[in-house]
Amino acid sequence: MATRLVIVGGVAGGATAAARARRLSEDAEITIIERGPYVSFANCGLPYFIAGAIAKRSKLLLQTPEGFDSRYGVKVLLRSEAVEIDRAGKRVKVRMAGDRALGGQADGPADDAWLDYDKLILAQGGNPVMPPVEGAGSPNVFKLWTIPDMDRIVKYLDEEKPQSAVIAGGGFIGLEMAEAFRERGLSTTVVEMMPRLMPAMDPEFGSMIASRLESHGVAVRTGVALKTVHAGEREVELSDGSRVPAGVVLFSVGVRPELSLATSAGLSIGSSGGLLVDERLQTSDPDIFAAGDMVEVVQRVSGKRVRVPLAGPANRQGRIAASNALGQNMRYAGALGTSVFKAFDATVASTGLSETAAREAGFQVGSATVHKDHHSAYYPGAKELSLKLVYDRRDGRLLGAQAFGEEGVEKRIDVAATALLGQLHLADLTELDLAYAPPYSSANDPINVAAMVGMNDLEGYSPLETAAELKSALNSDSPPLVLDVRNRNEYDERHIAGSLNIPVDELRFSLDEVPRDRAVHVLDRTGFRGHLALRILNGSGIAKVMNVSGGFLSVEAEGGFPIEAGE
Ligand code: FAD
Repeated sequence: MATRLVIVGGVAGGATAAARARRLSEDAEITIIERGPYVSFANCGLPYFIAGAIAKRSKLLLQTPEGFDSRYGVKVLLRSEAVEIDRAGKRVKVRMAGDRALGGQADGPADDAWLDYDKLILAQGGNPVMPPVEGAGSPNVFKLWTIPDMDRIVKYLDEEKPQSAVIAGGGFIGLEMAEAFRERGLSTTVVEMMPRLMPAMDPEFGSMIASRLESHGVAVRTGVALKTVHAGEREVELSDGSRVPAGVVLFSVGVRPELSLATSAGLSIGSSGGLLVDERLQTSDPDIFAAGDMVEVVQRVSGKRVRVPLAGPANRQGRIAASNALGQNMRYAGALGTSVFKAFDATVASTGLSETAAREAGFQVGSATVHKDHHSAYYPGAKELSLKLVYDRRDGRLLGAQAFGEEGVEKRIDVAATALLGQLHLADLTELDLAYAPPYSSANDPINVAAMVGMNDLEGYSPLETAAELKSALNSDSPPLVLDVRNRNEYDERHIAGSLNIPVDELRFSLDEVPRDRAVHVLDRTGFRGHLALRILNGSGIAKVMNVSGGFLSVEAEGGFPIEAGE
């Protein structure tokens, strides 16, 4: 008998599962149950439609029930919610909106029906968190998760013409929406409760993103929470008592997995709060598989169980869940959490573990940051790219990477993601033979250079410290000397209070100015001249020297240093 495959949820994970199942079996009876009015839509494109970058709403609708039927022979039930799983009877109760009809056996209220399955795939995604904020139910307060959410926002912007927007949440969806609101001419504020934007990345990247947003007219308020929405006054009140203009308010503070159906069916939940699945994406019921934002998976670097609510993992998991539901034996080895987003003219991307996450996971963490042109400096259009590699100091294994810049950011992060999958070490990365011509890269790509910097650290040839480590060293009982080897004009503009300035080109002739009884921490703009200075100092017998990884750019991005600025 043909396998009856029922899939709950018809977007990234569910739609992929259905298409894959059909490719594997011409006989299977495949049904998608989707609560919303659309199947297979591009949620990742929603902010760009609001911004106006995607002009046609129809472009976001990737498939229709008719298309699924004609191309794949898959039945799609829209506006139909799976409300109960009878695991013993292997059937799902479906509640259909209004006039819907289903060829199952009617049972209970007229619009409920049971649908039998041999195998069930849950791909229900998650729901955006709506914090219990006073006034959150006001008509100018929105979330963005579905096409109807997007339509509501666009309608409100078009009809009410608000002049200002507040976004609660400085994660990537909130930041994409900050750009969208600015593109529509609204004065826009992002409010993030944590001390930095993009809390999943290391702090210096949060600072770089904030500066970029501010340069495009977005106000950034970190370390404060949105407390009350005063819809009538078109303002919000923050936890520090301040008020911010807010004609429209968007909450984008995280996503919670959609688990009520699974938990009421008695399926096991994992330690991070997602639906528990094994490597085959099988739940605690052997006939039920699951994929996407609702499940928890293994983080490939740390080995911890985590939730990775991103489209790439959801799609790949949907494919594997369908294959295994139809009798194959495919394995999902885990996710890296590779992500990228656009912040006006900048691109921000990361993969694997941040320095903070790597430390929490128990690694002995090292990191190398370079600020390099994305292609040869002499070829027109070179843009500075900040790239940070995080590695295990014990053996140089790559643990993660983060990057910020205008060009070439995602390329470096994709290389790093591939390296993480191959469990490569810094030594391997120094040897990566990457494509080069002046318009594209440098003979030593930034990723090669960052790996060389990390290797120099590991081998003790040019020991590194992060800006955060420098900050805590300066606050210790025996603070090191900060030797700033930038040129005098750079130093005069801004420098760490109490630092000594000897430009690197004068250092060989000024060695007697450098104290020999104190640890010396060298600092330049990016870390490159710091490395040269460190070697000069070592060569002259001054041994206790560290180079600040990423130099003054990383110090400024880290923040919290006593900075003196010139006139
Ligand atoms: P979803 O795509 O959320 O689909 C789940 C579906 O299940 C929903 O349509 C829901 O209606 C349905 N459902 C739930 N319960 C039931 C039920 N009981 N009965 C019937 N149907 C049910 N990720 C990236 O990697 N890159 C990006 O740039 C990116 N941008 C994003 C921008 C926005 C605005 C949003 C909202 C998300 C973005 N994401 C991005 C995240 C990405 O879209 C999700 O990770 C992905 O869609 C998850 O797929 P999924 O199948 O698990 O869940």
